[in-house]
Amino acid sequence: MKLRYITDIDKIAQIPADQREKLKQVSKKYAFRLNDYYLGLINWDDPNDPIRNLVIPQENELSDWGDLDASNEKDVTRVPGLQHKYPHTALLLCNEVCGAYCRYCFRKRLFMNDNDEAVLDVSEGLKYIAETPRITNVLLTGGDPLLLSTKRLRYILESLRAIPHVQIIRIGSKMPAFNPWRILDDPDLQALLRECSTKDKRIYLMAHFDHPRELTPQAIEGIDCFIRNGVICCNQCPVLRGINDDSEVLAELFRKLSFIGCPPYYLFQGRPTAGNEPFAVPIIRGYELFEEAKRHVSGLAKRLRFVMSHETGKIEIVGVDSLFMYLCYHRAKDPANEGRFMIFHRDDNAVWLDDLRPVLPERVAGMLGASQRLASDAAGTAIEREHAHTATSVGPE
Ligand code: SF4
Repeated sequence: MKLRYITDIDKIAQIPADQREKLKQVSKKYAFRLNDYYLGLINWDDPNDPIRNLVIPQENELSDWGDLDASNEKDVTRVPGLQHKYPHTALLLCNEVCGAYCRYCFRKRLFMNDNDEAVLDVSEGLKYIAETPRITNVLLTGGDPLLLSTKRLRYILESLRAIPHVQIIRIGSKMPAFNPWRILDDPDLQALLRECSTKDKRIYLMAHFDHPRELTPQAIEGIDCFIRNGVICCNQCPVLRGINDDSEVLAELFRKLSFIGCPPYYLFQGRPTAGNEPFAVPIIRGYELFEEAKRHVSGLAKRLRFVMSHETGKIEIVGVDSLFMYLCYHRAKDPANEGRFMIFHRDDNAVWLDDLRPVLPERVAGMLGASQRLASDAAGTAIEREHAHTATSVGPE
């Protein structure tokens, strides 16, 4: 199935002409692109349609808010197109185009003219991975790797499979949502996946569905095609205002994903990326939606974690009460922070770790008794994981 791509807002007749003029200013700053299949999923009768919000620019994207590289990914870019933040994991940014551009993208800087963080020539990245034996896990990302030609993907996957220490290869892609025919219509890609996803070294698809309406029969066929060609599937997506900030919507998404063999893996707190203010959901609201949605799903979907991809690591939001918020490093840039548990004052408006105010170490020490081992860092008060259960009993200051 051949899809038609649209990069000019004027081509979308459903948007009134005066609005299109204003939105063109937005698309000059943050790239716009979608295809006729995804356009067809929009319900134009609903001015707040979540699919519309996902891909059609909004005027308030131009508000002065956030940073283009909110997690400072540039800092962990070791060679062009390669990020190495956690010991065993490398990211290969091998494409700077996507099937459509999500308005809330945290890597929208890649689609801007002067950015060179994603590269088509990944040879330096492959060399870095080959020379770094502790890297066992490589994520192909970008942009969308599945927009590369199958020939180029073959070169990358075969090169990675030739590196003995690389075990897991993950492909981060929203193509199953934007264009399921990318896999359905390409027997060469299917054969490549079968060859490179072996019984002892699997390929994983990190799919990206944000809303249950993206799970069309064709998208489900697409996921089935990945599975039948030996790929393990799971899903990750952010919680987004105007798209999925509703516990019933999230529950339906998580349930359906687990039914089709693509269970949810991470729900992300949205990064405070420039242009993304319209989609910002406070951490506490996100946590409440996550917990409520989980009440309505089965065990496989409940394995999901609610995390924040912060500059210092992947931080799980593990609990909230009337006074405090409890966070824990799920993965840490600094190995000393691995598993570190932190307590912050409850803040119902905070959208990011940097907005939070740590509970003072002395205060926690007084509450827990001198025998508790405490540590603190720039990010906040940290209590070692083994005392997490007692930490929740901390009282008001
Ligand atoms: S698919 Fe991912 S990388 Fe591409 S625009 Fe959407 S969020 Fe950004």
